[in-house]
Amino acid sequence: MGPAGWRERLAQALALTSALWLAGAKAEASPCAPLQSSAPLSLPAAAAAAAPPASDPSGRDYRHQLRPTPAGWPVRQQWCVWIEPPREPAGSAAADREQRWLSAVHAGLEPWRELLSITLVDTADQAQVRVWRRQPPLQRLADGRTRASNGRAILQLLVVDRGAGAQAEPRVDVLLTPGRAAGALQATALHELGHAFGLWGHSEHPGDAMAAVPGPVPMLNLSPRDRATLQWLLEQGNRLRAPQQPPATP
Ligand SMILES: [Zn+2]
Repeated sequence: MGPAGWRERLAQALALTSALWLAGAKAEASPCAPLQSSAPLSLPAAAAAAAPPASDPSGRDYRHQLRPTPAGWPVRQQWCVWIEPPREPAGSAAADREQRWLSAVHAGLEPWRELLSITLVDTADQAQVRVWRRQPPLQRLADGRTRASNGRAILQLLVVDRGAGAQAEPRVDVLLTPGRAAGALQATALHELGHAFGLWGHSEHPGDAMAAVPGPVPMLNLSPRDRATLQWLLEQGNRLRAPQQPPATP
Protein backbone atom coordinates (compact mmCIF):
# COMPACT_ATOMS: atom_id res chain seq x y z
CA MET A 1 0.00 0.00 0.00
CA GLY A 2 1.37 3.41 -1.00
CA PRO A 3 1.58 6.47 1.22
CA ALA A 4 -1.66 7.85 -0.33
CA GLY A 5 -3.57 4.76 0.94
CA TRP A 6 -2.28 5.23 4.48
CA ARG A 7 -3.27 8.87 4.45
CA GLU A 8 -6.77 7.92 3.35
CA ARG A 9 -7.10 5.31 6.11
CA LEU A 10 -5.84 7.73 8.70
CA ALA A 11 -8.36 10.35 7.55
CA GLN A 12 -11.17 7.77 7.78
CA ALA A 13 -10.07 6.71 11.26
CA LEU A 14 -9.94 10.34 12.43
CA ALA A 15 -13.39 11.03 10.99
CA LEU A 16 -14.82 7.99 12.80
CA THR A 17 -13.16 8.98 16.09
CA SER A 18 -14.53 12.52 15.96
CA ALA A 19 -18.02 11.21 15.06
CA LEU A 20 -17.93 8.94 18.12
CA TRP A 21 -16.65 11.77 20.28
CA LEU A 22 -19.47 14.07 19.09
CA ALA A 23 -22.05 11.35 19.79
CA GLY A 24 -20.67 10.97 23.32
CA ALA A 25 -20.67 14.72 23.87
CA LYS A 26 -24.29 14.96 22.76
CA ALA A 27 -25.40 12.22 25.16
CA GLU A 28 -23.82 14.07 28.08
CA ALA A 29 -24.83 17.58 26.90
CA SER A 30 -22.85 20.51 28.21
CA PRO A 31 -24.25 22.12 31.38
CA CYS A 32 -23.77 25.43 29.54
CA ALA A 33 -25.60 24.45 26.34
CA PRO A 34 -28.26 26.98 25.24
CA LEU A 35 -31.77 26.33 26.53
CA GLN A 36 -34.07 24.35 24.27
CA SER A 37 -36.94 24.79 26.72
CA SER A 38 -37.56 25.91 30.27
CA ALA A 39 -40.55 26.01 32.60
CA PRO A 40 -41.07 26.66 36.30
CA LEU A 41 -40.45 23.58 38.43
CA SER A 42 -43.88 22.57 39.73
CA LEU A 43 -43.67 21.22 43.22
CA PRO A 44 -46.09 18.64 44.56
CA ALA A 45 -48.86 20.24 46.61
CA ALA A 46 -47.60 18.30 49.62
CA ALA A 47 -44.08 19.73 49.32
CA ALA A 48 -43.36 21.16 52.71
CA ALA A 49 -40.66 23.60 53.60
CA ALA A 50 -37.73 21.36 54.54
CA ALA A 51 -36.41 21.59 58.06
CA PRO A 52 -33.32 23.73 58.59
CA PRO A 53 -30.12 21.80 59.34
CA ALA A 54 -28.88 21.46 62.90
CA SER A 55 -25.89 23.65 63.71
CA ASP A 56 -22.34 22.34 63.44
CA PRO A 57 -21.34 21.05 66.89
CA SER A 58 -17.91 22.69 66.60
CA GLY A 59 -19.37 26.04 65.46
CA ARG A 60 -17.02 26.25 62.48
CA ASP A 61 -19.78 27.16 60.01
CA TYR A 62 -23.27 28.68 59.78
CA ARG A 63 -25.07 25.78 58.09
CA HIS A 64 -28.01 26.24 60.49
CA GLN A 65 -28.76 29.58 58.80
CA LEU A 66 -29.27 27.96 55.37
CA ARG A 67 -32.65 26.86 54.11
CA PRO A 68 -33.20 24.21 51.43
CA THR A 69 -35.98 24.60 48.86
CA PRO A 70 -38.86 22.08 48.95
CA ALA A 71 -37.10 20.41 45.97
CA GLY A 72 -33.74 20.11 47.73
CA TRP A 73 -30.59 22.22 48.04
CA PRO A 74 -30.14 24.53 45.00
CA VAL A 75 -26.50 23.53 44.45
CA ARG A 76 -24.67 22.14 41.42
CA GLN A 77 -21.42 20.43 40.44
CA GLN A 78 -20.84 23.04 37.78
CA TRP A 79 -22.17 26.55 37.31
CA CYS A 80 -22.44 28.52 34.10
CA VAL A 81 -22.27 32.26 34.82
CA TRP A 82 -23.18 35.12 32.51
CA ILE A 83 -22.19 38.71 33.31
CA GLU A 84 -23.92 41.54 31.46
CA PRO A 85 -21.39 42.88 28.92
CA PRO A 86 -20.62 46.61 28.50
CA ARG A 87 -22.91 48.41 26.10
CA GLU A 88 -21.54 51.96 25.79
CA PRO A 89 -19.10 52.86 22.99
CA ALA A 90 -15.49 52.56 24.17
CA GLY A 91 -13.75 55.76 25.25
CA SER A 92 -16.76 57.44 26.87
CA ALA A 93 -17.13 58.10 30.61
CA ALA A 94 -20.15 55.77 30.62
CA ALA A 95 -18.00 53.00 29.12
CA ASP A 96 -15.41 53.54 31.87
CA ARG A 97 -18.13 53.17 34.51
CA GLU A 98 -19.28 49.91 32.88
CA GLN A 99 -15.71 48.61 32.81
CA ARG A 100 -15.26 49.43 36.52
CA TRP A 101 -18.50 47.57 37.30
CA LEU A 102 -17.35 44.57 35.24
CA SER A 103 -13.92 44.46 36.94
CA ALA A 104 -15.48 44.59 40.42
CA VAL A 105 -17.93 41.78 39.54
CA HIS A 106 -15.08 39.60 38.24
CA ALA A 107 -13.10 40.32 41.41
CA GLY A 108 -16.12 39.30 43.51
CA LEU A 109 -16.48 36.07 41.51
CA GLU A 110 -12.81 35.09 41.82
CA PRO A 111 -12.86 33.60 45.37
CA TRP A 112 -15.81 31.37 44.38
CA ARG A 113 -13.92 30.12 41.33
CA GLU A 114 -11.29 28.64 43.67
CA LEU A 115 -13.96 26.48 45.32
CA LEU A 116 -16.46 25.72 42.55
CA SER A 117 -16.36 24.71 38.92
CA ILE A 118 -17.52 27.89 37.15
CA THR A 119 -17.68 28.52 33.42
CA LEU A 120 -18.20 32.04 32.07
CA VAL A 121 -20.61 32.01 29.11
CA ASP A 122 -21.48 34.50 26.36
CA THR A 123 -25.27 34.43 26.42
CA ALA A 124 -27.78 34.61 29.27
CA ASP A 125 -29.65 31.47 28.21
CA GLN A 126 -26.51 29.36 28.72
CA ALA A 127 -26.31 30.35 32.38
CA GLN A 128 -27.74 29.30 35.71
CA VAL A 129 -26.41 32.53 37.27
CA ARG A 130 -27.02 35.81 35.44
CA VAL A 131 -25.43 39.02 36.73
CA TRP A 132 -27.17 42.24 35.70
CA ARG A 133 -25.85 45.82 35.85
CA ARG A 134 -28.85 47.45 37.49
CA GLN A 135 -30.20 48.68 40.80
CA PRO A 136 -32.51 46.20 42.54
CA PRO A 137 -36.11 47.42 42.90
CA LEU A 138 -37.17 48.74 46.30
CA GLN A 139 -38.08 45.96 48.68
CA ARG A 140 -41.33 46.28 50.61
CA LEU A 141 -40.95 45.21 54.23
CA ALA A 142 -43.61 43.51 56.35
CA ASP A 143 -44.39 46.80 58.13
CA GLY A 144 -45.11 48.54 54.80
CA ARG A 145 -41.89 50.55 54.62
CA THR A 146 -39.56 50.15 51.65
CA ARG A 147 -35.83 49.48 51.65
CA ALA A 148 -33.28 50.24 48.96
CA SER A 149 -30.28 47.97 48.40
CA ASN A 150 -27.33 47.76 46.02
CA GLY A 151 -27.44 44.02 45.45
CA ARG A 152 -30.00 41.28 45.32
CA ALA A 153 -30.09 37.62 44.28
CA ILE A 154 -33.40 36.18 43.08
CA LEU A 155 -33.83 32.39 42.89
CA GLN A 156 -36.18 30.51 40.58
CA LEU A 157 -36.48 26.74 40.25
CA LEU A 158 -36.84 25.53 36.68
CA VAL A 159 -37.13 22.37 34.62
CA VAL A 160 -34.90 22.88 31.59
CA ASP A 161 -33.80 20.96 28.54
CA ARG A 162 -30.26 21.71 27.34
CA GLY A 163 -30.21 18.91 24.82
CA ALA A 164 -30.06 15.93 27.18
CA GLY A 165 -33.64 15.76 28.46
CA ALA A 166 -35.49 17.49 31.28
CA GLN A 167 -33.62 18.31 34.45
CA ALA A 168 -34.12 20.59 37.43
CA GLU A 169 -31.98 23.71 37.54
CA PRO A 170 -31.76 26.74 39.78
CA ARG A 171 -31.74 30.09 38.01
CA VAL A 172 -30.42 33.04 39.92
CA ASP A 173 -30.63 36.64 38.74
CA VAL A 174 -28.10 38.82 40.57
CA LEU A 175 -28.75 42.57 40.36
CA LEU A 176 -25.78 44.82 41.20
CA THR A 177 -26.00 48.61 41.19
CA PRO A 178 -23.34 50.30 39.03
CA GLY A 179 -21.49 53.51 39.88
CA ARG A 180 -20.37 52.59 43.43
CA ALA A 181 -16.87 52.51 44.88
CA ALA A 182 -14.96 49.47 43.61
CA GLY A 183 -14.46 47.88 47.05
CA ALA A 184 -18.11 48.24 48.06
CA LEU A 185 -19.30 46.81 44.75
CA GLN A 186 -16.83 43.92 44.92
CA ALA A 187 -18.00 43.03 48.46
CA THR A 188 -21.65 43.15 47.35
CA ALA A 189 -20.86 40.95 44.32
CA LEU A 190 -19.03 38.44 46.55
CA HIS A 191 -22.01 38.31 48.95
CA GLU A 192 -24.80 38.06 46.34
CA LEU A 193 -22.86 35.43 44.35
CA GLY A 194 -22.64 33.41 47.59
CA HIS A 195 -26.45 33.30 47.61
CA ALA A 196 -26.42 32.38 43.92
CA PHE A 197 -24.12 29.40 44.54
CA GLY A 198 -26.44 28.02 47.22
CA LEU A 199 -25.76 29.92 50.46
CA TRP A 200 -29.35 31.03 50.99
CA GLY A 201 -28.98 32.40 54.48
CA HIS A 202 -26.80 34.79 56.45
CA SER A 203 -23.99 34.48 58.94
CA GLU A 204 -24.31 36.26 62.28
CA HIS A 205 -20.58 37.18 62.21
CA PRO A 206 -19.67 40.55 60.58
CA GLY A 207 -16.30 39.08 59.45
CA ASP A 208 -17.97 36.66 57.02
CA ALA A 209 -18.72 37.52 53.40
CA MET A 210 -22.26 36.25 53.98
CA ALA A 211 -22.83 38.40 57.10
CA ALA A 212 -26.38 39.63 57.60
CA VAL A 213 -25.00 42.98 58.74
CA PRO A 214 -21.66 43.81 57.11
CA GLY A 215 -18.94 45.40 59.23
CA PRO A 216 -17.34 48.80 58.47
CA VAL A 217 -14.70 47.28 56.16
CA PRO A 218 -15.95 45.69 52.89
CA MET A 219 -15.31 41.91 52.93
CA LEU A 220 -13.38 41.18 49.75
CA ASN A 221 -12.64 37.53 50.46
CA LEU A 222 -14.23 34.46 51.98
CA SER A 223 -13.67 33.71 55.65
CA PRO A 224 -12.88 30.18 56.91
CA ARG A 225 -16.53 30.01 58.07
CA ASP A 226 -17.80 30.92 54.57
CA ARG A 227 -15.59 28.17 53.10
CA ALA A 228 -16.62 25.60 55.70
CA THR A 229 -20.32 26.36 55.15
CA LEU A 230 -20.00 25.95 51.38
CA GLN A 231 -18.03 22.74 51.87
CA TRP A 232 -20.79 21.35 54.11
CA LEU A 233 -23.43 22.39 51.56
CA LEU A 234 -21.61 20.62 48.70
CA GLU A 235 -21.52 17.41 50.73
CA GLN A 236 -25.32 17.31 51.11
CA GLY A 237 -26.94 14.61 49.01
CA ASN A 238 -30.36 16.28 48.84
CA ARG A 239 -29.69 18.23 45.63
CA LEU A 240 -32.26 19.95 43.50
CA ARG A 241 -34.18 17.44 41.43
CA ALA A 242 -37.18 17.36 39.12
CA PRO A 243 -40.29 15.59 40.42
CA GLN A 244 -40.63 11.96 39.27
CA GLN A 245 -41.59 11.82 35.61
CA PRO A 246 -44.56 9.57 34.83
CA PRO A 247 -43.41 6.39 33.05
CA ALA A 248 -43.36 6.84 29.28
CA THR A 249 -46.20 5.08 27.49
CA PRO A 250 -44.95 2.63 24.84
ZN1 LIG B 1 -27.65 38.50 51.59
